[in-house]
Amino acid sequence: MNVEDATIQVLPTGTVNQIAAGEVVERPASVVKELVENAVDAGAGLVRVEVTSDRRQVTVVRVVDDGVGMGRADAVLAFKEHATSKIREIEDLDRLHTLGFRGEALASIASVAEVTLVTKPRGRGVLVGTRVQVRGGTEPEVSEVGAPEGTSVEVKDLFFNTPARRKFLKTLHTELAHIHGVVEKTALAHPEVAFRLFHNGRERIATYAADDLRETAGALFGTDLTRALVQVGGGNRFVRVGGFVARPSHTRADQYQIFLSVNGRPVYSAGLVRAIKEGYGTLLPANRFPVAFLALTTEDGLVDANVHPTKRQVRFTHEREVYEAVTGAVRTALHGEDLLVGEQEAEVFTPAPHAPASLPPRTSSPAVPCPGVGESLAHYAKSDRRLRQTQLPLAGAERNRLPEVTVLGQVDATYIVGSTGGRTLVLIDQHAAHERILYEQVQAKQAGGQKTQELIVPVLITFSPAEVELAREALPVLAEEGFVVEEFGPSTFAVSAIPVVLGKLEEPEVIRDLVSALVREGPSDPVGRREAITRRVACRGAIKGGDPLTHEQMQRLVEQLAHTKNPYTCPHGRPTVILFSPDEMAAMFRRT
Ligand code: ADP
Ligand code: MG
Repeated sequence: MNVEDATIQVLPTGTVNQIAAGEVVERPASVVKELVENAVDAGAGLVRVEVTSDRRQVTVVRVVDDGVGMGRADAVLAFKEHATSKIREIEDLDRLHTLGFRGEALASIASVAEVTLVTKPRGRGVLVGTRVQVRGGTEPEVSEVGAPEGTSVEVKDLFFNTPARRKFLKTLHTELAHIHGVVEKTALAHPEVAFRLFHNGRERIATYAADDLRETAGALFGTDLTRALVQVGGGNRFVRVGGFVARPSHTRADQYQIFLSVNGRPVYSAGLVRAIKEGYGTLLPANRFPVAFLALTTEDGLVDANVHPTKRQVRFTHEREVYEAVTGAVRTALHGEDLLVGEQEAEVFTPAPHAPASLPPRTSSPAVPCPGVGESLAHYAKSDRRLRQTQLPLAGAERNRLPEVTVLGQVDATYIVGSTGGRTLVLIDQHAAHERILYEQVQAKQAGGQKTQELIVPVLITFSPAEVELAREALPVLAEEGFVVEEFGPSTFAVSAIPVVLGKLEEPEVIRDLVSALVREGPSDPVGRREAITRRVACRGAIKGGDPLTHEQMQRLVEQLAHTKNPYTCPHGRPTVILFSPDEMAAMFRRT
């Protein structure tokens, strides 16, 4: 055969690497992913990701770790294609405990960018570190440098020699979002490692080495979410399932808050997502996705990570059994929880997060507290004072939107039970109903202009040092709304008068709440501000769920509700009244 005639050519290594890079290095986020994985594999306790961008694109990615580091020979070999310290033979894939194994990431990245690696082995008393620089797959430049133990890799000019690839880069915003995603996923797959992400010097993510996935989730997404998490634990012969899922009160429209890892590798799997949803069963509304942080662990040899070049997908040898274990573990976790109580409490009373929760925690049924006589008298008196604030019927408001209700009684010190015309059963949420009444009353008064009423005893409010400045700035706004507030001490302010619309709402606690909320929320537009005040007054001034009411008080409340313009919802849009017609009751008892 004449070689001269051949049209087939074996590609030079550089070109091979550039082609391979197409699979592994799709975008700046892929660089972050590969470097972060190497850092985790190197046993780092802290991984620091620094991203630099100009206004259009990511310009530099740098990942610094305190892992095992490398000696000079390894540092050079690391850039060779198919050079890896993680496997020796194909069987090693079955007992893989590292994220990497293909030995192509550094070679691929260096073929399409300029990479500078600085490293020094950990704990071996080596004095100098090694610096290796490769640009576009050319010969590495190697030198000695002073360096801390561990490794840092800096990547710049990504795709400088592959303009076609460069064109496909999305907007800066999208790239940054992908990078965030990579760091979040890796951090959640490795709660034992601390991660920090910086963009142009500003810290964006900080997780701390934790032994619990919930802590990492909290560092990433806030404690509001973590409070809703339920621990999952279970499994079978093939897999162990651990982690957390959120109560059904915290669902999402998409599946981006389902984080899965298999043996420490963050993965995506439509099958596992389905298995989790299955575990929720009917607790999950249609078209909604749960929030989940699950870590799966298998025995060696039961999972294949070599399915996809970026290793985002895995294959299980016993797929069905793994799915069953996940469904079962999620189901068990959710059914062990008193989900409804948790949700209801969160819904009914949500004190502003900064305000001290002045409401006593609501004791839920069936253990209805039966107050002693003295206590109940005090209760009735307080409810009476609150109810007296309301002076409906409003002039001109017709009483025809709510049918006439005969009050039968109260259940759980929260709901008024009545009937209309002796035929329809009526349930009224006393707090929501009173909120509606107060809201409309305050609105009507506001329409008549702001007037101020003096308080007999001024109410003192102490702010934190950070808030004092805000409070000073808010003084004119407060004055506009009818409050008279003056500085009283270094961090104390005195409220000596309040808007007339607050009526007899003289409880210091309520006034304190209102003013602090106004100060903290800052001056918004006057209309929005007034609306916020109105709602807050209505909410704080209204009788609560858990307040026992006398028959007469209930009757008065229902009467006033009938005179509102919108008797059926509270200012937050929740129902105030629920009616059960004879037909509905018959259907419930299957009489039809
Ligand atoms: P892989 O991770 O698949 O082995 P890479 O190209 O990502 O392939 O890395 C090649 C080798 O370089 C690794 O096997 C490891 O020995 C070494 N290496 C890469 N990054 C680091 C790091 N941050 N710390 C220590 N060693 C590293
Ligand atoms: Mg790697």
